Amino acid sequence: MTAAPPADLIARLIEAVAATVTAHADELTALDQAIGDGDHGLNMRRGFDAVLAERDATAAKPLPDALKAIGMTLVMKVGGASGPLYGTLIMTMGKELAAGATPADAVRAFGAAIDALKARGKSEPGQKTMLDVLVPVHAALVADPRADVAAIAAAAADATIPMKAIRGRASFLGDRSIGHMDPGARSSSLIIAAVAGVLEG
Ligand code: ADP
Ligand code: MG
Repeated sequence: MTAAPPADLIARLIEAVAATVTAHADELTALDQAIGDGDHGLNMRRGFDAVLAERDATAAKPLPDALKAIGMTLVMKVGGASGPLYGTLIMTMGKELAAGATPADAVRAFGAAIDALKARGKSEPGQKTMLDVLVPVHAALVADPRADVAAIAAAAADATIPMKAIRGRASFLGDRSIGHMDPGARSSSLIIAAVAGVLEG
């Protein structure tokens, strides 16, 4: 199947992700208050409010261009460390999906996007960041494209609780970062659950 996804799908993905980020903004902020500077919920809500405001113009574009536009908005509006990282992830997905958008293409593009995020953040899984959710979700999709990614992402976010932060602001706390869920891991699990919910429908 190589047909372009309907514009309606892009609009529904934007709505679903923006809704979950808004609904959980206070929770993300509380997580970031524990091991960061307490702005992650605010950053993400500001970014996805902007993406939602551009929904109709974005949904009218072909999927690769829509993803590039969303990524650019996230870089500009989220700010903090997470804005450029999420922006890189989504923009790279767009670049990689220019050749096609089958489910297999999407999994491969997700892998390339994670590699770009790693390069940008100079980070690897195991350092208590969003990568600790994105990498296991990608691995699960490579093994089984019908994997229950929402459950895998939630478990992976929980698994950041005992980790010690090696990257990002939380790393300044050293051992005191242990015992708290990473805010970016949580926002990644929320976004993945929302995307999966729309794609399954
Ligand atoms: P800031 O840390 O600048 O206040 P946010 O609070 O918006 O930015 O985002 C913090 C999240 O960003 C962390 O919880 C972590 O998941 C992620 N993060 C920070 N630095 C990195 C990095 N180098 N690589 C991957 N993820 C990172
Ligand atoms: Mg922060």
